[in-house]
Amino acid sequence: MKVTEHIKKAEGKTLFSFEIIPPVKGRSIQELYDNIDPLMEFKPPFIDVTTSREEYVYIDRDGLLDKKLTRMRPGTVGICASIQHKYGVDTVPHVLCGGFTKEETEYVLVDCHYLGIENVMALRGDARKEEQYFNPTKGGHAYATDLVKQIYALNHGNYLHDKVETVHSADFCIGVAGYPEKHLEAPSLMTDLKRLKEKVDAGADYVVTQMFFDNQKYFEFVKAAKDMGINVPIIPGIKPIAVKRHLQLLPQVFKIDLPQDLIDAVDDCNTNTDVRQVGIEWAIQQSKELKAAGVPVLHYYSMGKSDNIEAIAKELF
Ligand code: FAD
Repeated sequence: MKVTEHIKKAEGKTLFSFEIIPPVKGRSIQELYDNIDPLMEFKPPFIDVTTSREEYVYIDRDGLLDKKLTRMRPGTVGICASIQHKYGVDTVPHVLCGGFTKEETEYVLVDCHYLGIENVMALRGDARKEEQYFNPTKGGHAYATDLVKQIYALNHGNYLHDKVETVHSADFCIGVAGYPEKHLEAPSLMTDLKRLKEKVDAGADYVVTQMFFDNQKYFEFVKAAKDMGINVPIIPGIKPIAVKRHLQLLPQVFKIDLPQDLIDAVDDCNTNTDVRQVGIEWAIQQSKELKAAGVPVLHYYSMGKSDNIEAIAKELF
């Protein structure tokens, strides 16, 4: 079922969902299941699975280093299919512009369609580790809007190089990213919102936000989006702080602000267990307020470990 159908069916009740990242190559999928299992009692209608950008690795060949481009966490679509099969919940594979030609994207979408995956998250992807800025892949898309257009066209039988009789067409529900504190490359929040509107006008059905730690930022973002004519559901993304290093890392990587009260509480912690507890309690307060405001879904970034998400969900669902 589509994410938007789940939201409609919930009739105003806030749903619980979360995002997972594929394991590093060579690891067992059981590790993922071990993290998903404790969260199933909260009945997520859908689970997101990220896609990683490619990165360079250096292979030692008799003293000479061979530089190869590889994806360390492949398997997004396979993981989505296995989760749907094992747990009977919908999954949302993240589909990226970066690292994929348009043709490769088409084949990923065809695989998803055959596997019964009805939702996809259309994203540009970040710059590769060694790049300062995002460089579009040769033959790929430069912006998420163009990817949304490709998926929307495919939904209507318009493949890249052929128009197909739509006997049993794919009909993906398309999610896109939104940034309450603006995307790091955008010159202003208003410009970024205009770009978001372009994604929705191109066919996106819902938005999931970047993490934020001050709910006011989300409420203002939703209002500004509505004022601009963005009328699709805007799902808040929540990440509990888990280690002290997040105080530097999250603002640096995502260009987001952390509230002073949260910084002070984390600073006062002596152990990472204490930090994790502060992160849980902050996320619970955030989630309670968002739920009271009637958000359609509370979507959690699990980053591979689910014990903190479980503790938060226990208080809310
Ligand atoms: P876009 O919507 O293309 O926007 C990128 C930038 O370009 C913005 O600054 C925008 O304002 C600007 N822009 C857009 N259109 C134009 C235009 N026509 N002309 C000029 N400027 C324009 N990354 C991953 O690698 N894998 C994942 O699985 C993943 N999942 C994510 C899930 C969520 C919910 C979120 C919020 C982010 C995720 N990301 C992921 C990170 C995301 O890929 C990065 O934030 C990326 O830098 C931007 O992606 P986007 O889809 O928002 O890009």
